Amino acid sequence: MPELPEVTVISEDVAALAVGREVLRAAVFRPDVTNVEPGEFGRWLVGRTLRGTGRRGKIIVLDFGEVVGLVHLVISGRVLRLPEWKEPDRMNTAVLEFGGEGGPLVLAFTRLWLGYFDLYEPGEEDKHPLISRLGPDPLSEEFTVEYLASALSRKAGVKGLLLDQSVVAGLGNIYVDEVLFSAGVHPTRKASTLAAEEIQNIHAATRDILRHAIEQRGTTFDSYHDAFGETGKFQHQLKVFTRAGEPCPRCGTEIIKSRVAGRGTHSCPVCQN
Ligand SMILES: [Zn+2]
Repeated sequence: MPELPEVTVISEDVAALAVGREVLRAAVFRPDVTNVEPGEFGRWLVGRTLRGTGRRGKIIVLDFGEVVGLVHLVISGRVLRLPEWKEPDRMNTAVLEFGGEGGPLVLAFTRLWLGYFDLYEPGEEDKHPLISRLGPDPLSEEFTVEYLASALSRKAGVKGLLLDQSVVAGLGNIYVDEVLFSAGVHPTRKASTLAAEEIQNIHAATRDILRHAIEQRGTTFDSYHDAFGETGKFQHQLKVFTRAGEPCPRCGTEIIKSRVAGRGTHSCPVCQN
């Protein structure tokens, strides 16, 4: 599933491809993919120019001026460049054709089987159920050590709290495992038992790892590709995620896979306490 780094890369790719271009055609395949009537989807977007893109948690934000698009790729969604206009289908769930210099540009938002492409008037997008509950972005100024210490002052497990989008926006299973390994904190630890230094380490590791992963254009295991069809490279930098049975890069002990917070979890039984 695309997490903060992958969504950042796709959002920036869409900006590079389409900002300044006007929407000529837009359509969705099924009514459950969007919050507006499917027949109205095109009417909301046609004639509008993409002004910029952004990200809220794992959601791509498309700024069309009087309309804001929210795209959640969820598990295996992608943004694909198509050679020409194609009516939406099961694979190409939402399709937008842009005009502008260099000829038409057709972007398909694919496989939004659990995801969506919702449309809002500017300001209204904050009411979106996923956005209204988002905690601070880990790369923002609001994500301070003090904030994290208070968010982690609960008895719940640290891994579950870091996966909770209302605590920190944008982290998922891959990066939480990597952050906890880097910080030397075991995923099953009760957050309320963390020392101040451990919280500082989690805070620093979160920012370092996310920034590094964005530089490496994300992590690809199977479906994730950027909007140019390229894979990410951060999978080669992962220390524990998907490395069960391999030696810990720090101490050589075998990396263990277990189940924590309902998710497959990778950790070193020696380095992480
Ligand atoms: Zn180790």
